Amino acid sequence: MPATTPAPVLLELLRCPEPHHAPLSFDREASCLTCSECDKEFRVEDGIPVMLLDDVKEELQAWAQTTTAWQASPATGRPTRPASPGT
Ligand SMILES: [Zn+2]
Repeated sequence: MPATTPAPVLLELLRCPEPHHAPLSFDREASCLTCSECDKEFRVEDGIPVMLLDDVKEELQAWAQTTTAWQASPATGRPTRPASPGT
């Protein structure tokens, strides 16, 4: 079994993160899990299922953008946090 395949026991335990918590089926070729209820797909990276819903992914991306926007302060050389738009 390739290292990129999640353990079968794990696949049996995994459920869709949506409220219906339907079982998922693993597509070995595409290396992704598909919900049997809503057809959402979840990538499997290095054998680890990425069980994130789209809205969470967007939040994470937004967060990652704010973090990479950190810059070294010219005065001290230490990272400074950019002013967040909400405050
Ligand atoms: Zn689902």
